[in-house]
Amino acid sequence: MPTHSASTEDEIVEAVMTAREWRSPLEIVGAGTKQSFGRAVVTMGSVLDVSGLRGILSYEPNELILTAAPGTPVAEIDAVLAEKGQRLGFDPPDWGPLLGAAPGLGTIGGAISTDANGPARVRLGAARDQLLGFRGVNGFGEAFKAGGKVVKNVTGFDVPKLMCGAMGTLCVLTEVTLRVFPRPPLSTVLALRDLSPEDGFALLRKVWSSPLDATGLAYSQGRVLVRLEGEKAPLAEKCAMLRTLLDGREAQEVPEGEIAFRAIGNGEVFADTPYDVWRAFVPPAAAAQVAAEIEAPLWLGDWAGGLLWLGTLPGSDTVRAAVNRVGGHAVLLRAGEETRERLDVFEPQSAVRMAMTKSIKAAFDPLGLFNPGRMWDGV
Ligand SMILES: Cc1cc2nc3c(=O)[nH]c(=O)nc-3n(C[C@H](O)[C@H](O)[C@H](O)COP(=O)(O)OP(=O)(O)OC[C@H]3O[C@@H](n4cnc5c(N)ncnc54)[C@H](O)[C@@H]3O)c2cc1C
Repeated sequence: MPTHSASTEDEIVEAVMTAREWRSPLEIVGAGTKQSFGRAVVTMGSVLDVSGLRGILSYEPNELILTAAPGTPVAEIDAVLAEKGQRLGFDPPDWGPLLGAAPGLGTIGGAISTDANGPARVRLGAARDQLLGFRGVNGFGEAFKAGGKVVKNVTGFDVPKLMCGAMGTLCVLTEVTLRVFPRPPLSTVLALRDLSPEDGFALLRKVWSSPLDATGLAYSQGRVLVRLEGEKAPLAEKCAMLRTLLDGREAQEVPEGEIAFRAIGNGEVFADTPYDVWRAFVPPAAAAQVAAEIEAPLWLGDWAGGLLWLGTLPGSDTVRAAVNRVGGHAVLLRAGEETRERLDVFEPQSAVRMAMTKSIKAAFDPLGLFNPGRMWDGV
């Protein structure tokens, strides 16, 4: 099985030119922590290992902008940002253990390519809102850049958005520039117990539409969790204001609240279970109804109900129909290979959308060299 290991953009160009010559598709691999997410890639065994493109290339805390090589571990970026009291807004989780890999290895390129957004996304936005620019190599073997390294940049097509969630099917990223966010010095997580899903999600939506700017709004097994952040005095005010929204219910402070939200983002509760794991994106007001209909043996809600994590019996296909009925869509994050082939990992596309998707794929990668089949057959 030929593995090309590249640690520079030039080496990637060279590997792509070779792949073109041999018409030999490539499976693009960073740290490999999310390889079991998506459909099996159809290659003749050729792997392009890009984990060598690693390191923070520039970081300007005053401008809130960071540029990194895509093989840089998210954990390394988090640590550098934390030193300056900043963070990644899309809050990329660590799905390593959930997907059978080691913790702490996932790369920034992998997080962007899989559109892995964590709990704070509810307030700070998704990867597609924060990837300002990138460099990459397309399927012609051409190195190119798109977007820029400034927050305000509206010229030209917003190509960076296409890369978020493209699962490495369009180009090989070689550099990414992200907008980053201040990290308030303190956070408090407050919990309420014994709420039905209807009441729990209703409360979360109420907090969401209040001016509290909560960066965590989750529901799990009768418990509502709300994360508030700020300087000491404003945070105390926010906690007091939250209590006025609770209709006399009692909220308790969770001692290790940050850990609780990290566990939610990482899907930790599903890691050691036999269940298939779905992420369903639904209108928050429909979350309780969808969860009741699906009757998953294990589930939780994040983003005030906008995201449902569902652990279902292996091979069961109850999720997508229920989610589609309310206008949502679902992604099968973890399942055996046979199930991922049979059930569609990503939302099946209408004929019109699939034609557009295939045109975009052909514009970037006409020979179908990058991760063929990972999202849909023929893409
Ligand atoms: C003072 C100033 C400072 C600026 N600074 C920057 C900067 O720092 N960085 C930067 O990148 N840009 C900058 N710009 C550019 C600015 O952001 C652009 O003018 C803007 O993107 C165009 O938006 P508009 O609302 O003027 O659109 P319009 O001029 O109304 O339309 C833009 C285009 O969209 C088309 N269009 C409109 N509606 C539709 C529709 N429904 N369907 C299909 N097509 C449609 C129009 O035909 C046109 O081609 C600046 C502009 C100004 C005036």
